[in-house]
Order: sequence, then C-alpha cells, then structure tokens
Amino acid sequence: MTKGNINVSVENIFPLIKKFLYSDHEIFLRELISNATDATLKLKHLTSIGEAKVEYGDPKIEVKIDKEGKKLHVIDQGLGMTADEVQKYINEVAFSGAEEFLDKYKDSAKDSGIIGHFGLGFYSAFMVAEKVEIITKSFKDESAAHWTCDGSPEFTLEEADKTERGTEIILHIAEDSTEFLEESRIRELLLKYNKFMPVPIKFGTKEINDPDFEPKTITDKDGKETTEPHKQITVDDIINNPSPAWTKQPADLDEQNYKDFYRELYPMQFEEPLFNIHLNVDYPFNLTGILYFPKMTNDLNIQKDKIQLYQNQVFITDNVEGIVPEFLTMLRGVIDSPDIPLNVSRSYLQADGAVKKISSYITRKVADKLKSIFNSNREEYEKKWDDIKIVIEYGMLSEEKFFEKADAFALYPTVEGKYYTFEELTNAIKAKQTDKDDKMVILYASNKDEQHAYIEAAKAKDYEVLLLDSPIVSHLMQKLETSKEKIAFARVDADHIDNLIKKDDTTISKLSEDEKTKLDELLKEVVPSEKFMVQLEAMDSGASPFIITQPEFMRRMKE
Ligand code: ADP
Ligand code: MG
Repeated sequence: MTKGNINVSVENIFPLIKKFLYSDHEIFLRELISNATDATLKLKHLTSIGEAKVEYGDPKIEVKIDKEGKKLHVIDQGLGMTADEVQKYINEVAFSGAEEFLDKYKDSAKDSGIIGHFGLGFYSAFMVAEKVEIITKSFKDESAAHWTCDGSPEFTLEEADKTERGTEIILHIAEDSTEFLEESRIRELLLKYNKFMPVPIKFGTKEINDPDFEPKTITDKDGKETTEPHKQITVDDIINNPSPAWTKQPADLDEQNYKDFYRELYPMQFEEPLFNIHLNVDYPFNLTGILYFPKMTNDLNIQKDKIQLYQNQVFITDNVEGIVPEFLTMLRGVIDSPDIPLNVSRSYLQADGAVKKISSYITRKVADKLKSIFNSNREEYEKKWDDIKIVIEYGMLSEEKFFEKADAFALYPTVEGKYYTFEELTNAIKAKQTDKDDKMVILYASNKDEQHAYIEAAKAKDYEVLLLDSPIVSHLMQKLETSKEKIAFARVDADHIDNLIKKDDTTISKLSEDEKTKLDELLKEVVPSEKFMVQLEAMDSGASPFIITQPEFMRRMKE
C-alpha cells in the first residue's frame, strides 16, 4: 500500500473547490461522466491507431445508486489507469490528462471529441461526497489500483482485484447531499447534461416487448381464438442518444429526421418547427448545430425551450447570450462548439473575440439559409412569412450585416396578399408613385379594417398598398428610409398621397348634383371639421361616395 499527499501548493484545496469553483453542486455527475467518456474515447483512439492491442468492443458507461450503502457508482469500460497513472493524473490537482492526451496525439486525435480540459473536474466529486474511491484497471497489462480519499489531502493507494478493464468511481454521498441518492434526481441530471453524450449511458433496466417474439394465435377447447400475450424482456435503460442529428452530415438527414430531433430536444413541444438550419463549420473555428425557426405561439414553452449550448455533446447551458445574436434567441435548437471558451467550471462563457466571430457566422448562415429557402420554394416561404417576420425584421434592425443580406428574402406583403421583395416593390411603384421631390412613395396600411376606405381609394388609383402591421415595423420603415435611396413611406390615409404622379384617370361621378349637396350637408353636421376633412368622391374612380381624411398635421396634433 502507498500512502502520500496530494500535490497541491495550497494547504487544502478541497474546501476551496467545494466552496468557490462550482456554483452548482449537481455538475459533479456531468464531470464524472465526461471523464468516463474521455476514457472510452481515448481507448477508441488508441485501438484505432494500433497503440492499444485490445478489443474495443461495445463499451458503455453505467450509473448505479446504492441507496442503502449511500453510494453512487460511475463505471466505465474505458482505458483505465495504472497505479502510476492514478498518482500522476488524480493526485496532481489541475493536471489534465485530457490536455496531455491531446498534446501527445495532436493531429490524429484532434477530432476525437475529448472533453476534459482543466484537470479539475474530478475533484467536483468532493462537493457531494465525503469519501471517494477509484477502482481502476488499465488496458495495459498491469494489476488494478484502488485509490481512496476522504477529502483531505491524504489518500491511500493499493492494489485491487478488479479484472475487467475500466474505471469505477464510488462516491460516498455526504449527509447534506442525499438528494443524489434519489433515482428521479439522478435521471433528471442525466437527461439534462448527458442526453446526447457519445458513449451509451446505462441507468437501470427497463421492460420492453421482445422484438424477436412473434405472438401465436391460440385456439382454446371451445374453439375460441386468442393471441398470446407479448413477451417482455429486460434490457439496459440507455438514457442517451449517442449520435444526435447535429453530429451527422446534412446530406444524411431528411426533413423527418430534423423534425424527430426537434421532438427529442423539446419533448413537450407539439408544434412542428417551420424550418431548420444545419450549422457545420470547421474553419476558422469548429461549430456544429441545428437551429429551428419555431412557430410563434403564445405558449409558455417559448420562454423555456431555448437554444442549448453543448461542448463535445456535453450540455453546458441554455444561456447563449453573446454567442447567438440577440434577434436569433427566439430560435430553438443546439449549438455545439469545442472552441467556445468556458470558465473553469465549464458552466458559462468567457467573453472573447472568438465568440464574436461565432456570432457573426451564425448570423450569416441564417441569412444564407433564408435566402436559399426563399429561392428554392418561394410559395412555402411566403406562407411562413407571418411567423418568421418578427425575427427577420428584428434582425434587420439590429444587425447591419443581416440588413444588407435581407434584401434577398425580406418580404413586403400587399393588402391583397401579394408578397414583394424590396426590389420588386420599387419596380412595381416606380412609374406611378413618385412625389414632387422625386421620391418613391411606399404606401402602407397598418390596419386593413380601419383603413378600408383609404385602401380602396388608393387601389382605385392603381397604387400598391402594403400591409405592414408588425409591432416594430415603424422602426424598420425608418431604417429603410435612411438606408435606401429616394424612398419614403406614407400611410394610406396620409393627406399628400393625392399629389403623387400617376397615370391620368377620368372621374365618372356616381352621384347626382342633388345627392352631392344633401350628402355634403349631412356630413358637415356629423364630422367635426377641426379634426377631419371630408371630400366627396375625392378618389378618382368614385369607389367610395365620400372619404374622410385626417391630414398628417391634424393627426400629429392629436398625438
Ligand atoms: P480533465 O478531465 O480536465 O483532464 P479531471 O480532473 O476531470 O481533469 O480528471 C483528471 C484526469 O484523471 C483525467 O485527465 C484522466 O487522465 C484521469 N481520469 C479521471 N477519470 C478517469 C476515468 N474514468 N478513466 C480514466 N482516467 C480518468
Ligand atoms: Mg474531466
């Protein structure tokens, strides 16, 4: 048996780790499973390059609760550790075996998905355990080792009789952390942090219908036919999906796969997403992910179901502020990037130039995708416009780059339900809606019912009238007016729209002189003249017998 002191420069690092390093005690499980995953992926790498001459097989990680013994076990079938390696990797706090591995196998292992980084994760176990044991057998031909430590810098290391390759970590759960002996709590954590990790994770067993069993039809003595009951079998309950959609190539996925993955991510979402954007880049940084445009509804999950950030398939956070530009935080989905700098507790981001680059990449990618959907299936895109316009308009206002690209896919619907791009719109109105300052006047209505008469009148003049009714559209109009050449927006009831240069129209009156006089008198009585102007058959075609306008100056006086 070896006895010794853990190598740290501070007298007792455990209280420090326990108190300050991790804000959330629950992440200990994420760290231990990350280590178990690393151990498995390292073995996979070493067997693939021929450096470990053992059978890689079909390894899994098992999490087991021993409620009576107040213990929690995390067992893997990875590469294990020799006694010397335990000394080196475990007893030296802040020495990361993961970093060392990546350094050693540089190029060949760079895509291996190794998670570890800071050499501190293991010690998070002491946040919830009063004693931790490691029983480990290396893939190398050496006897197994048993390390025990009670949270002081003293440990013991002795030989063990474990024969199967891999590592078992045993946590003796502390009095104040017994929640981690509850099945439901552990399952909750596994589903939160480990749902998409790359090695299968077993947590208990479950009963399923035997897929190989074919129920026979039985005829009883009265000649009655019944089907034999289905045979149940007990199988491992694997809580994770080791190869989630975002880790695959877009070419290998179809629409249904994307929808299924959406459901997997948000089991409580019953609405189908409108469309998805598969992110996949490896230069100048590594990032994969799938973003979904959700159908905007008033349901409460909109707040809850956010974009999730992963690193090498380990859940980090759903606070993606900074990485995802603000206007896209209404989207859903996942982003996975090993290049996003995290703090040592791996629970939140470190502000950094790389993050900015990632954010602008995402903006560009979303814009490109919108453009391609618009180009390839305009009809579908137009149908979805009402659901996505809020995101796009907000993006146009908040991100200059997005605004520039949006010319290709931002739509301007008319009151008749026709959808123009900005260019199409200006082409359509150039000849007929120009004012005396040579500006193209884009007419719009903000409410089809209230402004009905004006809309009819404008249509009668062959003007195009847009229906712009989203809450931020007035800001967007301002932005367009300052960014585009010679355009101005005017609400359809603005007083100057009569002065637009237009084709000659002849007025055919539908009212007799007598009717006009009577109508005029009647209207003078009911319409206050200091607020409104009344014009009889003001609009050329006489679509409405009279029209009441509120000139711009009157409207402003009221506001
Ligand atoms: P990191 O994972 O950031 O390297 P940790 O403190 O989590 O740091 O773990 C320290 C080291 O201990 C790991 O790098 C690894 O070499 C070793 N280790 C921890 N858990 C295991 C395990 N289950 N199997 C094999 N080695 C392990
Ligand atoms: Mg680790």
